[in-house]
Amino acid sequence: MVIFLVYKFHPESINMRVDILNIVVLAIILPWFAVIGGHISNLRSSISNALSTIERLTNNIKDVIFVLDMNFNYTYVSPSIKIMRGYEPEEVMKQTLYDSFAPSSRDAAMRALYGIMALEESGSRDLIERTLQLEVERKDGTTVWTETKFSFVRDKNSRTVGILGVSRDITERKHAEERIQYLATHDILTGLPNRMMFSRLLNQAIESARRHERQFAILFVDLDRFKIINDTMGHDAGDELLKEMAKRFRQSLRAVDVVGRPQEKNDIVGRLGGDEFIILIEEVSNLNQVATLAQRVLSAAMKPMVILGEECRVTASIGISVYPSDGDDEQTLMRNADMAMYFAKEEGKNNFQFYSQNTQSQAFERLSIETNLRKALERNELYLEYQAKMNFKTGAITGVEALLRWKNPILGLVTPTQFIPVAEETGMIVPIGRWVIKTACAQNIAWQRQGLPPVRMAVNLSLRQLMDDKLLEDITAALNDSGMAPNLLEMEITESMVMYKPERLIEALTKIKNMGVRLALDDFGTGYSSLAHVKQFPIDTLKIDRSFIRNLSQNSEDKAIIEAIIAMGKTLSLNVVAEGVETMAQDEFLREHICDEMQGYYFSKPVAPDQFADLLRKNSATS
Ligand code: C2E
Ligand code: MG
Ligand code: MG
Repeated sequence: MVIFLVYKFHPESINMRVDILNIVVLAIILPWFAVIGGHISNLRSSISNALSTIERLTNNIKDVIFVLDMNFNYTYVSPSIKIMRGYEPEEVMKQTLYDSFAPSSRDAAMRALYGIMALEESGSRDLIERTLQLEVERKDGTTVWTETKFSFVRDKNSRTVGILGVSRDITERKHAEERIQYLATHDILTGLPNRMMFSRLLNQAIESARRHERQFAILFVDLDRFKIINDTMGHDAGDELLKEMAKRFRQSLRAVDVVGRPQEKNDIVGRLGGDEFIILIEEVSNLNQVATLAQRVLSAAMKPMVILGEECRVTASIGISVYPSDGDDEQTLMRNADMAMYFAKEEGKNNFQFYSQNTQSQAFERLSIETNLRKALERNELYLEYQAKMNFKTGAITGVEALLRWKNPILGLVTPTQFIPVAEETGMIVPIGRWVIKTACAQNIAWQRQGLPPVRMAVNLSLRQLMDDKLLEDITAALNDSGMAPNLLEMEITESMVMYKPERLIEALTKIKNMGVRLALDDFGTGYSSLAHVKQFPIDTLKIDRSFIRNLSQNSEDKAIIEAIIAMGKTLSLNVVAEGVETMAQDEFLREHICDEMQGYYFSKPVAPDQFADLLRKNSATS
């Protein structure tokens, strides 16, 4: 009884070699001693008290106490077994220990028990080693997780004669642990393995592919234009779409393949744009097989789906890297698949691309430009340089073109031809362009305040800006804020822009024109517009593309084109500017053909505001 009490209140302090059998034996033998000793009534009452106390104690504790003999047969099971497993103690006594365990864990449980026996025989006294988590079967077929502490029962000669077990129901704790484990390894929205789990699976795949000298592939799948759906239809719609995609991707693959969603847990930002999936294609015998699966994934994505009552169609872009040719570690494989995915996007989306060395340089450059450009404005990494335009007849500086520059601490000086296409594609050109207009107008007024003569300020416009509803507001604000006269501002649009959808453009351009702002057609000659085409646009200036000027000395065809452009400009009463004039020969040729203005290194390179002020000061003093 004392032992049970100690066990109940201080289970950790109990001597593990408790002789339970002795108690039981004692309980049976003591009455006979009492009879013999003649103290029958006294002893009988104290014995029955002792037994009922044991009974009451074992009844009241939820833990199950059981005793096994050395062949693992039950010799005692406490009544609380009824609560834990739904059996009466007598029913359990007839079971084998093996059958008490849940079918799926029987072998493992027996192995663990034999391990404990071996420990005991070796004389080890390590108590921790003798606690096992075992899954046992209930009478109704369900299972219960228990934590069972084992100790050994010895006789007077210290021979091990039995095993005492105390089991506690830990099902709830176990399920909570499993849930935590699940949450840590899965994406909650789609139920797919998350980045952590995928990483584990990928490393296993690398291990096994290395061992068996096999190859496998990783597919980086990114939904095209998911952000638009998310932004316009709401996050719930976005979530629906992601769930549906997860389902489709899983269905379009073989059982051995794994789809994951590389979502960081609790990553709120990633959550909003989390339109990426990763697929692990195991056991690849040839690349055609991978291409077929990638195509199947693309087709699955493309099937129409109804979201919030609207039929939507979403496409995907896929980048593929193959172990071991494109990398033999997790990081390299993931990075290369990601790069190949960017390449697929550049190739017009809705396609898949295998990684190659070529992809690497292109995608990396583009990726780092995109990520760094996002912060360029707020970090003041953008600035303008100014290139003079000189009138051939008078030699006076009549205008200046504002040219955007970007200096990034990591990428260094990035040229406009590298970053402007990225800014256009991502829409960043709209806020950047707004800043350019504002800064250029303010600069123009700053020069005038220094007493310099007013010059026309040319600013380049992208198609994306021209299509933006707020462009007129932006121009008005820049003019009002600076106080610059509208006719000093000239917006340059390229010929390639007006080749496409002229009606809408004419409308937008007319509105700008009506504000009193001038318009120039830049890079002219490259699009081979006809006179009739050019006539539709309300422009003031034609800028002959640099490529014609460059070849002037060798190429008589270019000379003919320049002559024709100048003549056409005159017919339309346009101001004709030659771009990229670098040599005296070019200068002379253009002068002869009565071109109006020139812009080029021969006169001045694009320079900083102060340098331009110096140039303008000198120029106005001489001309
Ligand atoms: P663009 O508007 O045709 O500008 C003229 C380009 O020719 C400038 O290149 C200028 O530096 C260069 N250039 C001028 N004279 C010479 C010369 O004698 N020799 C040579 N080799 N080059 C000369 P940049 O600054 O690299 O700009 C390239 C293009 O980027 C511009 O071509 C324009 O289309 C675009 N861009 C520049 N700034 C902006 C901007 O603020 N907004 C927009 N949307 N586009 C811009
Ligand atoms: Mg220009
Ligand atoms: Mg140009």
